[in-house]
Amino acid sequence: MSKIQESDRKIFNFPLDQFQQNFFCPICNSKSVLIDEIYTINSSYNNKFHLKECSFCHHWWIDPIPIQSYLSYLYSISSKFVVSHDYSNDSKVNSNDLNKLYKKIFSEKETSSDYNYLEIGIGSGDVYDYFQSITKICYGVEPGPWGLKHRNIVSDINELPLDLKFNRIVIFDVLEHVQNPIQLLKQVKMVAQSDVKLFCTFPNKDSILAKCYRSKWRMMRPLGHIHFFSKKSIKITLNKSGWYSTKIESSRPNLKTNFEIISDLFTIKSNLSEKIFNFPQEFLLGRDQWYIECNALKND
Ligand SMILES: [Zn+2]
Repeated sequence: MSKIQESDRKIFNFPLDQFQQNFFCPICNSKSVLIDEIYTINSSYNNKFHLKECSFCHHWWIDPIPIQSYLSYLYSISSKFVVSHDYSNDSKVNSNDLNKLYKKIFSEKETSSDYNYLEIGIGSGDVYDYFQSITKICYGVEPGPWGLKHRNIVSDINELPLDLKFNRIVIFDVLEHVQNPIQLLKQVKMVAQSDVKLFCTFPNKDSILAKCYRSKWRMMRPLGHIHFFSKKSIKITLNKSGWYSTKIESSRPNLKTNFEIISDLFTIKSNLSEKIFNFPQEFLLGRDQWYIECNALKND
């Protein structure tokens, strides 16, 4: 696809009533500072947004924030303001990745067929299909049209069958996409059993790549990505939504290990010189995601 010239870009007339300005931190309500300006991922348009930082929890967000119904609408039509590629073309998750995930989600003593599994935001659906084949009950929440080809998918968490509760819940690369991550995690808690384990991944703004590149960081993808969490903003988010973390670690995209990064260099078919050029940064600094495991706080 040819690159769009700067002069060919236009301003998109976003419906202003579908956006909310957040002068205060959407996580802890403290004062914010403007740290940069940023374009959306739709390169045909020139619309600029603000990148804000909370003065207390150091959370970053895009301001103004689209309201959830508008975001869900943009996903339902696969708008270029929120998705930059067709999920069906995503590279397949391989059996190694699935085994690795299984070991994170179930201990050796646990049998997956005893568990009710819920995945929010199924993306390519490879992980979802795998867990559907090995768990007792499996549901997914996916507003994008790519969810339709999988079984037991609803477009909103409120559409899950009443009285069905889950004890393994996966939310990979979703919290950064929604208007209100606290609200989403509260809703997830409502459909969770008391012995639930929750697993999340999302961009890490405490990482060196985020601090160095700011609005040029590879995770800066408005209106796809809106929230960028610090360790402090994660803890506040969990506490306000009825969860606590048992593990918070910085990780690479797709939870890649050192060994996998090295073996990718030799196995993935793409531009070798580009891969060798990117390798040192990826190996040393590529941990610009969070991987967290959580339990539910007891209801009062
Ligand atoms: Zn804050």
